[in-house]
Amino acid sequence: MIPIAKPFIGVEEKNAVAKVLDSGIIAQGPKVRELEEKFANLCGSKHAIAVNSGTAALHSSLNAAGIQTGDEVITTPFTFISTANTILMQNATPIFADIESDTFNIDVGKIKEKVTSKTKAIITVDLYGNLCNYDEINNIAKENGIVVIEDSCQSVNAEFNGKKAGTFGNIGTFSFYATKNITCGEGGMFVTDNNEYAENARLFRQHGRSKMTDYDYIRLGYNYRMTDIQAAILLEQLKKLDEITKKRIDNAKYLSENLEGTDGIEVPNVKENSRHVFHQYTIKVNNFKISREKFQEELGKKGISTAIYYPRPLHLCQHFKKLGYKEGDFPVAEEISKQVLSLPVHPSVTKEDMDLIIKSIKEVT
Ligand SMILES: *Cc1c(COP(=O)(O)O)cnc(C)c1O
Repeated sequence: MIPIAKPFIGVEEKNAVAKVLDSGIIAQGPKVRELEEKFANLCGSKHAIAVNSGTAALHSSLNAAGIQTGDEVITTPFTFISTANTILMQNATPIFADIESDTFNIDVGKIKEKVTSKTKAIITVDLYGNLCNYDEINNIAKENGIVVIEDSCQSVNAEFNGKKAGTFGNIGTFSFYATKNITCGEGGMFVTDNNEYAENARLFRQHGRSKMTDYDYIRLGYNYRMTDIQAAILLEQLKKLDEITKKRIDNAKYLSENLEGTDGIEVPNVKENSRHVFHQYTIKVNNFKISREKFQEELGKKGISTAIYYPRPLHLCQHFKKLGYKEGDFPVAEEISKQVLSLPVHPSVTKEDMDLIIKSIKEVT
């Protein structure tokens, strides 16, 4: 079976973990600090604060931005639930805005319609590894005094005009979950140029504890710390990041070259000056020979695993329907959720694998 995701882990990561285990410092320590330094350099941001998940990074961002009860935070309904759940964690209200049908990212025009006097932040999601339209988003944010939090959980190393994902808004967040482009099993990162936000995130991950040496707690916090075991894995993953990114991009290019023009299928859209890092290679299946579900089943029979991200926009999950959302509220997200299909694109997918995928798609009936 060609899996839809596979961690790109080798002997380097195993050796790095063994070293940390032997060192005796296995919770947050020098490896986490080293990782933070390297990650900040990678992004070109002043601060990087490692945490134990992408969700923790998003929650820390909202807290740093001062989001609290009664505030509204605009985001996309076409994302992983974490994006919107972290808004609820701060007792604020998620306000969804519909997406663009070609990039699957939040529609800037729709953001404008949702801004009220209660809007305090926007969480943009760089879905599948593809950056949002930040020139316009940042303009709206500036005009309205809104903080922009970039959910780059799927987009490490993506770029627009040479600028890295995570640095377009006020705070950027990353995930190192097992399926993400680089991973340590579970992990996350918070990046910012803002000293106060950074300090807030450092306190938030450690129960609001002001210094390592004295037990003074100055505000509410959580245990969001990353371990040195995870950081050691990520330090090795970072060395491979350019190779991983290139393989994903090359794989996507090969798939697109061979699938473009197939009736009933649309290949992913890449904007000029933009580096899409293909966390997912997602096609749109619309008026294809067979239904998407049957298509998925047929590919499965040929040994190709595929996935649907996401079969249900968040506003149609029971959890968010309680906020008053209903079918028809975000027609583009609803339509797209019925069309998307992600194909294997990760670095371990070989040319032979892709040839099988292409052949199977062309021959499926
Ligand atoms: C993975 C992901 C998250 C959450 O990351 P975790 O590390 O699983 O907590 C948030 N947003 C998006 C878009 C993601 O893909």
